[in-house]
Amino acid sequence: MPDKNPDKNPDKNLEESVVDPFKPYKGRFDSCQAIPEKGRNKDDILKELSTMSQEENSKWKNGRVSGTFYHAGDEHRAFLNKTFSFFSHVNTLQFDLCPSMSKFESEIIAMTAKMLNGDAVKTHNSEDSVCGTVTSGGSESIAMAMKAYRDKARSEKGITQPEVIMPKAAHPAFHKAGMYFGIKIVEIPVDLPDFRVDPANVEAKINENTVALVGSAGNYPYGLIDPLEELSDIALKHNIGLHVDGCLGGFILPWVEKLGYKVPVFDFRLKGLTSMSADTHKYGFALKGTSVVLYRNNNMRRYQYFSFPDWPGGIYASPTAAGSRSGGLTAATWASLVYLGEEGYLKAAGAIMKISDKIKKGVEGIPELTIIGDPTFVVSFRSDDVDVFHVNDFMKTKGWRFNILQLPPALHFCVTMPQTEVPDIAGQLIRDLKEGVEYAKTKAGTVAETTALYGLAGTIEGNQVVTELLCGAFDLMYTV
Ligand SMILES: *Cc1c(COP(=O)(O)O)cnc(C)c1O
Repeated sequence: MPDKNPDKNPDKNLEESVVDPFKPYKGRFDSCQAIPEKGRNKDDILKELSTMSQEENSKWKNGRVSGTFYHAGDEHRAFLNKTFSFFSHVNTLQFDLCPSMSKFESEIIAMTAKMLNGDAVKTHNSEDSVCGTVTSGGSESIAMAMKAYRDKARSEKGITQPEVIMPKAAHPAFHKAGMYFGIKIVEIPVDLPDFRVDPANVEAKINENTVALVGSAGNYPYGLIDPLEELSDIALKHNIGLHVDGCLGGFILPWVEKLGYKVPVFDFRLKGLTSMSADTHKYGFALKGTSVVLYRNNNMRRYQYFSFPDWPGGIYASPTAAGSRSGGLTAATWASLVYLGEEGYLKAAGAIMKISDKIKKGVEGIPELTIIGDPTFVVSFRSDDVDVFHVNDFMKTKGWRFNILQLPPALHFCVTMPQTEVPDIAGQLIRDLKEGVEYAKTKAGTVAETTALYGLAGTIEGNQVVTELLCGAFDLMYTV
C-alpha cells in the first residue's frame, strides 16, 4: 500500500516542509520505482495527468501567482500544442532533413532582432548586422553570451582571466555562467534610494581583464531598467562588451514603450550594446523551453558556436550548449510570434500594464509600504514600518504567491496574462495587502514564517545553511 500523506508527520524538519508541497501525490497515485513490466492503460495515464494538471492549474488560474505562468490564455496554449505536435519528434539540429527548422529559427531571430531595434546597428556601423541563436531558456542565452565574451577576449586581446561587471540585482544565471566558464563576476551594489546601479561605481571596477558589463531590462527583483545609456557609453569608451539581459522584459518592454509609457532606451539603439537576451518563453508567450540571444554582429556569434571535426561519429558541431533540441518547441515558438503579431502583443501588454498601474497606485496608497523604483510590469515594495515577510505570511493564507526579495526584505508581484483574465484582480490584491499590513502590525516583534528561510541568507554561515537546505531539498525532490 502507498505511504500515508507525509503532511501528517508532526516531526517534519525545515527541509521536509520545503519539499512537502512537491509530494502531494504520494499515496494518491502509484509511484514508479522502475519501468512497469507491462505498459499501463493509455486512458488511465491520461486521466492521471489530467487530474494533476487541473489541480495545479487551479492554483494560478485565480490570478494570485506572481510571474511564473507566462502564456496568452487557454486558446493560445491549445494552438501552440497543436503546432508542437507536428514537429514533436524532430531534432532542431537536423535542419538538413527538416529545413522547416532553419526557416523557423532564422525567422524567430529576425523577428526578435527587429522588435529590439536591430536595424539601428547599421546606422552606427554599416558592417554590423544583428544576429543570434535560439536557446533553451534565459540561463542558456546568458551563458552563451558570456562564453562568447570570454572566447572573444582570449582570441582578440589575449585575456586569460576574464571579468564581467554586473549590478547585484542582475540574474544569478550570470554567476552560473561565471562558474561554468571560469569568468570572475564583479558585483556592484544596488541600494537605496532607487535601487539602480551607479555607473561611476561600474566604471571604477573596469580593469585590463574586464571583458563585458551587464545591465538588465528589467531586472528580476524589481523589474527595473539599469542606467543603460551610461553603461553603453562606458562600454564604448573602454572597448568592452555590454550585455543587456532582456530575458524578462525583452518581449514586453517594446510594446509597453509603443503604448506610450516612458521607458528608457534598452535595446540595439544603444551604440555600446553588443548582446542581448530575450525570453520567448516568458512574455513571448511561447511554450516553456526557448529563448533568444542576439549579437551585434556575426563575429561575436561565431565565438558561441562549438565544432569538433575529428570525431569517429562524424563531423560534429552545435550552435548552442544543447545537442539535440525539440523541433516541437522551435515550431511552437515561431507560431506564437506570428499568431499573436504586433497587434496581439500590444493588446497583451496593454492589459498587463492596466493591472500593473492599478496595483502600483494601490500600493502607493498604503502608507506603510514603499514602492521600489519606477515600476512597469513588476511592482516591488518594501517597508520601514512592518515586516513585509509577515505581510507575505498573511498573503499566503489568501492564496497569493508573491516573489520574496531580500537584502533588503521586499516583495514583488509580476503581472502576467492570468491576472488579465480575473475581474478586479488588482482590487482583490490591494484589499488583501491592506489586511496583510494590519496583520503584520499585530505580529511585530515575532519571527515570520517566511523569515525561516529568507532570514538566513546574507552572512557566510547563513548562506552555507541555506545552500545545504536547498541542496537537501533537491535531493528530496528527486526521491520517488
Ligand atoms: C527568468 C530570467 C532569467 C533566466 O531565464 P530562465 O529562462 O529561467 O533560464 C534571466 N534574467 C531575468 C531578468 C529573468 O527574469
